[in-house]
Amino acid sequence: MKREWGPGIPKPLIPFIAIVLVILTAVAVRQIPGMPEARAETGEDAMYRVLRERMVKNQISHPPDYRDPVKAPEVLDAMSSVPRHLFVDPRDVSRAYSDYPLPIGYGQTISQPYIVALMTEMLKVGAQHRVLEVGTGSGYQAAVFSHMAEKVFSVEIVAALGRRAATRMKDLGYANVRVRVADGYYGWEEHAPFDRIIVTCAASLVPPPLLKQLKPGGKMCIPVGGLYAVQYLTLIEKSIKGDITMRKLLPVRFVPLTRALR
Ligand code: SAH
Repeated sequence: MKREWGPGIPKPLIPFIAIVLVILTAVAVRQIPGMPEARAETGEDAMYRVLRERMVKNQISHPPDYRDPVKAPEVLDAMSSVPRHLFVDPRDVSRAYSDYPLPIGYGQTISQPYIVALMTEMLKVGAQHRVLEVGTGSGYQAAVFSHMAEKVFSVEIVAALGRRAATRMKDLGYANVRVRVADGYYGWEEHAPFDRIIVTCAASLVPPPLLKQLKPGGKMCIPVGGLYAVQYLTLIEKSIKGDITMRKLLPVRFVPLTRALR
């Protein structure tokens, strides 16, 4: 007996034809305009997602030690989403979700996850906010803000780091983040005023241009302290009338704010 099915297709070919049809359908579906590219989670993605969930629980929302937990759901969601392993040096990927800062080249570091979460929570960022960051570094903090704010403007003084972060933002689809290579001491006048300002390098004094570019009702978070002195994470608030209040919150260690373009 001849092994045929329906319109004369040999039976052994049926699984092969089925696979070709599935592939063609997948290609066609992805080409429908407006349809987001559906990308299934790979085993590797799933592994990093589990590491991120552990990082958020064990270091941020339920830390076992003296730290105050960070509880704001929008901060925890953003920290659970941003693929931190894509912001570190390739040789540090296995340590990307560990409880410490990591080197990113040029003597700079990506901050410890808990500190990123804490500063983000302190600023109470809203969906309509325009945020200025001084010290783009890897772009990780900017990516976290990107989930919560309308727009993020980030300034980096080391040209190679700024360029690398800008490319990373583009590749990872963080479309509401803009990166500029410049001395962030001067803020980013063209896009001022800002609802929120974060400085991720330590200044011995709060740069006056940043105070000026903060909107009335706005908040700024900045580590303040000299190179060899204790630095304090400081929360600055500008009232609607323009009065400034400053609160020293906790001792921290950040790389210094420098003034020369490199
Ligand atoms: N927010 C970063 C961590 C940055 S480390 C992240 O998420 O990865 C601090 C960064 O501030 C460094 O990259 C350093 O080069 C940068 N920096 C130092 N002085 C600066 C200045 N005057 N203007 C802009 N960036 C500065």
